[in-house]
Amino acid sequence: MRARLGEALSAPGRHQRPSGATNCKATVRFTILLTTSSVTGTGKELFVGILVTGGAGFIGSHLIERLLQEGRPCVCLDNFDDFYPPDIKRANIEPFHTSPEFRLVEGDIRSPACLQQASKAMKITTIVHLAARAGVRPSILHPLLYHEVNITGTMHILEFARQEGITQLVFASSSSVYGNSDRIPFREDDPIDRPISPYAATKRAGELLCHTYSYLYGMHITCLRFFTVYGPRQRPEMAIHAFTRRIHAGEPIHIYGDGTSQRDYTFISDIIDGVMAALDRPQGYQLFNLGESRTVTLVDLIAYIEEALGKKALVQKLPEQPGDVRRTYADISKARRLLNYSPSVPIEKGIPLFVEWFLNMKQRDANKGQSSQHARLTV
Ligand code: NAD
Repeated sequence: MRARLGEALSAPGRHQRPSGATNCKATVRFTILLTTSSVTGTGKELFVGILVTGGAGFIGSHLIERLLQEGRPCVCLDNFDDFYPPDIKRANIEPFHTSPEFRLVEGDIRSPACLQQASKAMKITTIVHLAARAGVRPSILHPLLYHEVNITGTMHILEFARQEGITQLVFASSSSVYGNSDRIPFREDDPIDRPISPYAATKRAGELLCHTYSYLYGMHITCLRFFTVYGPRQRPEMAIHAFTRRIHAGEPIHIYGDGTSQRDYTFISDIIDGVMAALDRPQGYQLFNLGESRTVTLVDLIAYIEEALGKKALVQKLPEQPGDVRRTYADISKARRLLNYSPSVPIEKGIPLFVEWFLNMKQRDANKGQSSQHARLTV
């Protein structure tokens, strides 16, 4: 499924770092920058493939890794925002640049010019829309930004899909849409009109917009409600990563509340299995929970990390945070039935895998530091 690609797309503009399109001026500057040289890729063929928005992030980089392993071309659209250090995201996708089936467009989902660049980079048949401002607590501090990126940004993606005749989309939603629901475990058909954070409300709004576009334009749109995802490359501010980093460094960890809050933690490879299954089974408009269908208390989570690190945590208790839900717990029977989803990495296996990745990363950074010190000394 390949056609020839125009010469214009071979320009390697990989080191350009355009600013985000958060105001009109920036958008104009940004557009000019992008239409000149923003697409990165090694090959000259025009592939038919998948657009992954937010592809440089935690989940996106794992998805692209899997797509490329399966020989499925993809274009990553990411603006490398500063929610956490952009260098981490650049490192996430660094190995993909050698693949001829990979393209990178550095840009913002809210910029139609950037979306056009993506469609010039590859003939897009499907979109996996992961780009978002993630995180519950920061959404309380920056609600307008969350609205802008997560709702307006999703509208731009849906409009782009409509204009380009793209008929399949997978949307990253979240367990947070269930709020403090008392119905346990959470089912896709539960009434959920009580989100308790701006982030949760933006994700629910995204699902509703997806429904509208599916209804009006006959698109296959699958909304996947991810339940706390963890594993190698997890976002550095997320609890498992932050706890591991602090326990390893001998620093105190902060826990909010009495430690009895519960989460359904999902290992990254299980989430990617679910996304791949959704890609391979377009079924009109659908909502699915993707979790492990098991809850773990905060206290138990810390114990798993302590055991894997062989080190005790210094715990500082703080009051519960507004916006945090008491518990998440996925009923995954619908995903089992219609996606053949079958999570296989329980927390007892997943935390040691995460800690192993974390320690390897630390070791690699230490070696890099040593070799650059050695280089400095020998100059
Ligand atoms: P992440 O922050 O690592 O990835 C998001 C990526 O989107 C980043 O690389 C960021 O630079 C990019 N991005 C942000 N705004 C953009 C914009 N305006 N234009 C282009 N790119 C933009 O987060 P993640 O943990 O990989 O989450 C991916 C998706 O899954 C998000 O939509 C998130 O809300 C959702 N989700 C994640 C979890 C989880 O536990 N990680 C749980 C539920 C839902």
